[in-house]
Amino acid sequence: MKRMFAFCICLLSLVVVSSATAQTGSDNHAKQEPALPYIPSLDVTAMDKSVDPCVDLYHYSCGDWQKKNPIPPDQTSWSVYGKLYQDNLFFLRSILEQSGPGMPQRDAVTQKIGDFYASCMDETTADKRSVAAIQPQLDAIAALKSAHDMAPLVARLPLPFGRTILFVAGSTQDPDNSEQEIADLDQGGLGLPDRDYYTKDDAKSKETRERYVQHVQKIFELLGDSPQAAKQNAEIILRMETALAKASWTRVERRDPYKLKNKMKLADLIQLAPNFDWETYYRALQYPKFEILNVDAPAFYKQLNAELTSEPLENWKNYLRFHVADQYSPFLSANFVQENFEFYRKYLRGAKQMQPRWKRCVQFTDYNLGEALGQAYVRRVFSPELKASTLDMVNRVEAAMGQRIRQLDWMSPETKQQALAKLAAIRNKIGYPDKWRDYSSLKIVHDDLAGNILRGAEFEQHRDVNKIGKPVDHGEWDISPATVDAYYNPQMNDINFPAGVLQPPLYDPKMDDAPNYGDTGGTIGHELTHGFDDQGSQFDSKGNLKNWWTKDDREKFDARTKCVADQYSQYVMVDDIHINGELTLGENVADLGGEILAFMAWKDATKDKTLHPIDDLTPEQRFFIGFAQWDCANMRDEDLRVRAVTDPHSTAQYRINGVVVNMPEFSRAFSCKASQPMVKASDKVCKVW
Ligand SMILES: [Zn+2]
Repeated sequence: MKRMFAFCICLLSLVVVSSATAQTGSDNHAKQEPALPYIPSLDVTAMDKSVDPCVDLYHYSCGDWQKKNPIPPDQTSWSVYGKLYQDNLFFLRSILEQSGPGMPQRDAVTQKIGDFYASCMDETTADKRSVAAIQPQLDAIAALKSAHDMAPLVARLPLPFGRTILFVAGSTQDPDNSEQEIADLDQGGLGLPDRDYYTKDDAKSKETRERYVQHVQKIFELLGDSPQAAKQNAEIILRMETALAKASWTRVERRDPYKLKNKMKLADLIQLAPNFDWETYYRALQYPKFEILNVDAPAFYKQLNAELTSEPLENWKNYLRFHVADQYSPFLSANFVQENFEFYRKYLRGAKQMQPRWKRCVQFTDYNLGEALGQAYVRRVFSPELKASTLDMVNRVEAAMGQRIRQLDWMSPETKQQALAKLAAIRNKIGYPDKWRDYSSLKIVHDDLAGNILRGAEFEQHRDVNKIGKPVDHGEWDISPATVDAYYNPQMNDINFPAGVLQPPLYDPKMDDAPNYGDTGGTIGHELTHGFDDQGSQFDSKGNLKNWWTKDDREKFDARTKCVADQYSQYVMVDDIHINGELTLGENVADLGGEILAFMAWKDATKDKTLHPIDDLTPEQRFFIGFAQWDCANMRDEDLRVRAVTDPHSTAQYRINGVVVNMPEFSRAFSCKASQPMVKASDKVCKVW
């Protein structure tokens, strides 16, 4: 389950610990076979033609979209991807309602998704059970006798969707042998979205910590603690987490795969953190016997080890109690759901309203049973023709990459050969897995939401742990078929495009090639380029962390990526917060490389066709507008602040304008003058691939 690295095109704010309401609402949707709404991949009504594209392509292409698409009150941001994601939720809801208890002829898969969704929609039962739903876990924590007994207890406290408490544990690919799954331990244990929230001294970070303490206090009060005790214990939890945060890698440090590679024997781990009873922990979770494990963040475990004895047992009990209740809050009674929303979605990300319950329930079903729901989804939206045409586009983009590598004037033949070998070895995964995940051992019932979540957590943890010691399954997907996103995984050396990201307006079989290549062609190029960005390029054709560059070529490559980092560091996200050029480097390199490849692939695909202007736009202009319209968006300031710390992607307008300023094809398409803002001097243009 835990991948050291996986690079997405978009990273929607899929904050699982988000939540929402008691709003059952009147949803007058027709009970008929659903369909996704159609929006063209180039929408002229989304453009603001009063803007000069040579001054600002993004607002020229998306200006009217922004005016017509204010952020819905239950959303933290809004975008073309976000809107498609929401349309998907409506669509999936219809599928789930048709799969519910009482519907005739349900097969095993339909029963699971239908009953899960029904249990989630049963708000009355969730309210009635309230905290009783997690009472066994709370009782186990209360019975803790010593720090030494933490290990078997922690093993018994899986968090929703297979996450683990206190630290991140599970399986990962061996960085030196990508065919092998090994055990892995990573940093974790924090309630705020990033370690930086605990360490930064600016006014906003201080305020966020104060609000977090209030949130922790509120959760304790909901568990029945007195306000005084709740406040005191909340302060203690902030202190404990701050110490763990300080010992954690930053997100920029985590982009260096060599920092995360720390393979050791179990005996070494025991020496690193002797106060935690690792042997008992692994036995309790029935880990397969293993020789080596990777510890991504040794300093974190050293700190955890120290805190295990320096903090009184009572503090640890409160720490565990808070995190169990906090993580299960979205599945408990309305007061827990409300508090979860208030802090994580409203305060941190600026949402004005909770999402209606059905939206949350569809998402929870997708997180727990993604490949069960996905079967019903792809049957309806993903035809063999769509798969074939996507594959054709992928092949053309890969061919463009091959051509590009061969033509590079700065790379030696030696390194080029390695790059081409890596390109040839990439696996293309399109739409959905060849073999569906088997959920038959997971018991799902229609009237026990928290129980379903807990069993789902155990199922996922077990599935993940069981991979250890076995060969890697190259058919596995990290995201569900309905997900509106795509990713590259450097250890798998594969690119993955779920059915959800291959729908209009992102991929539109009714539209001409130009905007489709600008949009989905660019997405394919983006994922492909991740294999060759500053991070992905450190993995070889097999997915092993192994240098395949000559020293000289690597230096030239680093100088080229530095151009990109410097360019994006100048852009402002919100207030005086700039884009972190180091954090976003891989994504920016992928955005730039992706669009260059898409343009080449489009030219190749249409070389025998005579292309004409449509809607007064030349084919080249349509390519770039199609590109820009993939990411029309409106953002809340609160959400931008979270993204500045946590999101490896740049903000929408710079993902568009920052790319095309480096593409002479763009300035030619719109006959821009050298003096205009969207045109860089030729000696300043960043060019990596
Ligand atoms: Zn990406």
